[in-house]
Amino acid sequence: MPNFESILSTIAQEVSNETDKGRVASYIPELSCVDPNKFGISILDKDGTTYAMGDSKEKFSIQSISKVLALSMAYSLLDERIWERVGVEPSGDPFNHLSLLEMENGVPRNPLINAGAIVVSDILISHLKHPKTDFLEYVRGIAGDNSIDYDESVAVSERKTGFRNYAAANLIKSFDNLKNDVETVLDFYFHCCSLSMSCEQLVKVFYIFMNRGNCLQNNNYLDLSKVKRINAIMLTCGFYDEAGEFAFEVGLPGKSGVGGGIVALLPNEFCVVTWSPGLNEKGNSKLGMMALEKLTTMTGLSIF
Ligand code: GLN
Repeated sequence: MPNFESILSTIAQEVSNETDKGRVASYIPELSCVDPNKFGISILDKDGTTYAMGDSKEKFSIQSISKVLALSMAYSLLDERIWERVGVEPSGDPFNHLSLLEMENGVPRNPLINAGAIVVSDILISHLKHPKTDFLEYVRGIAGDNSIDYDESVAVSERKTGFRNYAAANLIKSFDNLKNDVETVLDFYFHCCSLSMSCEQLVKVFYIFMNRGNCLQNNNYLDLSKVKRINAIMLTCGFYDEAGEFAFEVGLPGKSGVGGGIVALLPNEFCVVTWSPGLNEKGNSKLGMMALEKLTTMTGLSIF
């Protein structure tokens, strides 16, 4: 294994010199309050050793990163039947785009764009007794950390300005690909996005995708085939219309969120989380992407 400690310190130093840190998301009012100068990075290797730098213990809104976790839970419940409701192709479109949804009869391109995650939310609501509590317990269980929670103020803030998500949900509903009512589905979806976690917590949750479906406590959450497929979807769809660029620059499956977090992993080796709230024009963390490009270049480790 490379010397992660010294590599992380070099990366943190280099990104701190960047003057253009991107722009903090403001379409969800609550997110616009976050300090753009925050930067955290955390690595968890396969042996369970953590390496961290900067604001790695500070909680942030994981936003779309939660889509992978909702997918993981729904996939476990439905097995391959899930693909009758949502596709597995990259969209090449921004995360909140609607045009393909209309053209493709309300079946979203993949589970990691907003429309896809809204369908996954609907599936979870249909299958869970207490959807919000059960999903939270699922995430807490994987991390072995009961302090993980939703941020109600972020969920409320997003509901107030979630016009495009309402539009997507209504369109999907018109094609009969939502079984529950729009308000219930979006309430669940907004809560998933509002999950608040630090880099050090999030890296433990994503450990299962790096470690063949097993968490740090060695409980199994996913079989090998599902892990392979979720990682494939992260690689091809995890960064919206910048998935190609992320694979090109970084070379790892991963997922971003508009809260400025990015998770990425090298199967059977390590999992990494960065947090820098400023986004680029595609809605992905600017310095997070830069840091991860440096990480895979300096260590020579990527899936390619
Ligand atoms: N909650 C955000 C939304 O629905 C998630 C988007 C993101 O992180 N890319 O717009």
